[in-house]
Amino acid sequence: MPASQYDFATIEPKWQRFWEENQTFRAAGPGEEGFDPSKPKYYVLIEFPYPSGEGLHVGHPRSYTALDVVARKRRMEGFNVLYPIGWDAFGLPTENYAIKTGRHPRDVTRENVVNYRRQLQRLGFSFDWSREVNTTDPDYYRWTQWIFLKLWENGLAYKAEIPINWCTSCKVGLANEEVVGGQCERCGGEVVRRMRSQWMLRITEYAERLLNDLNTVDFLEKIKMQQRNWIGRSTGAEVEFPIVGVSDRSMRVFTTRPDTLFGVTYMVLAPEHALVGELMDRCENADEVRAYVEAAGRKSDFERTEVAKEVTGVEMKGVRAFNPAAKTEVPVWVADYVLISYGTGAIMAVPGHDERDWRFARKYDLPIVEVISGGNIEEAAFVEIEDGMLVNSGPLDGLRPDQAIVKMTEIVESEGYGKASVQYRLRDWVFSRQKYWGEPIPMVNCPACGWVPVPEEELPLVLPEVERYQTTGTGESPLSLIEDWVKTRCPKCDGPATRETDTMPNWAGSSWYFLRYCDPANDAALADREALDYWTPVDWYNGGME
Ligand SMILES: [Zn+2]
Ligand SMILES: [Zn+2]
Repeated sequence: MPASQYDFATIEPKWQRFWEENQTFRAAGPGEEGFDPSKPKYYVLIEFPYPSGEGLHVGHPRSYTALDVVARKRRMEGFNVLYPIGWDAFGLPTENYAIKTGRHPRDVTRENVVNYRRQLQRLGFSFDWSREVNTTDPDYYRWTQWIFLKLWENGLAYKAEIPINWCTSCKVGLANEEVVGGQCERCGGEVVRRMRSQWMLRITEYAERLLNDLNTVDFLEKIKMQQRNWIGRSTGAEVEFPIVGVSDRSMRVFTTRPDTLFGVTYMVLAPEHALVGELMDRCENADEVRAYVEAAGRKSDFERTEVAKEVTGVEMKGVRAFNPAAKTEVPVWVADYVLISYGTGAIMAVPGHDERDWRFARKYDLPIVEVISGGNIEEAAFVEIEDGMLVNSGPLDGLRPDQAIVKMTEIVESEGYGKASVQYRLRDWVFSRQKYWGEPIPMVNCPACGWVPVPEEELPLVLPEVERYQTTGTGESPLSLIEDWVKTRCPKCDGPATRETDTMPNWAGSSWYFLRYCDPANDAALADREALDYWTPVDWYNGGME
């Protein structure tokens, strides 16, 4: 049949109406009408869309069509197929639109969803529309909040002081990529680093399991590789370097190369390290150090480590650390190439065998000691050490580096100044946003009891109405301005208390939607156990690589 004779304007609406009226693609799980236990189940999942004001873009139908083919084929093969759809609707684009127009993000979202639904239905996808979920629906985010409370109960949610990039003119926190040359990419205003108390999720607790379980899943190899790099496991040793003359202070470092401990000629603290402040009164050039720390505070991590043409630093004159292996005293420097957010925020510098340390030592005229023979440390750091041999290293002399790592770790442990250790690049997840359009974090701060969870039976903690949707001039969420919402009673002691005004990040609601699809109307649990056991795991997922 020539294409011109296919009367899509008549045929497609006819069948789309038929599918809708007959609920042709409705999936029935255990206990639901029409459930056929003799059929094997098949769960097909797409990354659910963010309903933006622009409507669908061509990338949406691309992946939905691929899985629609899979879903239809499996149905014809006799499977009980679940192919659901929903909306990942909290987050920035809608919020920015609301700030600009003054319209409530909820109303904007509702309109966008209507448009998306219309477009998707016209494309004829075989979604089970009876299971539609929306992360901004209080009946949905009630369970997102409930999950947060479970994380809190199990010690996996906590508060911590985290440095953020702060635009002094826009008065918002910025991502590293939004800071250019110490200035805000949007407005050119000055950006400073600020410490702010944020909710964190302890995902590092699962680093080892995430890594090991990659061996059990059927992912593309390049995705597994990406995941392994993201987790970034490294083995080595933690070593304590006491501060000379200060009995209760020491610098703790993590090194993957304990074999080079005898080559340490100086130590470096990140500018934000607590010891910098604590040792300031022993420091002969405190003004100089303070000025350096302040200047470093105006740079992003990216600028400090990736684009820096030259390493910079300042010595804390009068402060020295004791190298417990070589039994020598070494100077202590502050340098912004060391990040507080990575490792312990302090390093032992081995300029003979690390390129960056070598450049730094050359620039500031610090000693460079060879501890692995085979290179020429006068010309460059010697890092291709596979064939090298330990020298100038006491009990390690004559060993190969791999042997020396094992032996030095034993010595560190037996002499009691450190231990073997595993570290991950993976960081805990910053779970606070100072924004309006997100799930309120269901926690109350009581002067007497500390942080107290909102009782489960009071969930959902509904997002209150506000006059303006932007972050306040002090960098707080707009929720902080609603006094009668913020002021509350402590659920534990009934004393006066205040609510958390931060909201959750975009990925809170979208990290568990595949569970809710199994039982989307449940008001007693995030999903019924039997439904979860029946439908999960997902058999075929198509979405972002992460
Ligand atoms: Zn700005
Ligand atoms: Zn209390």
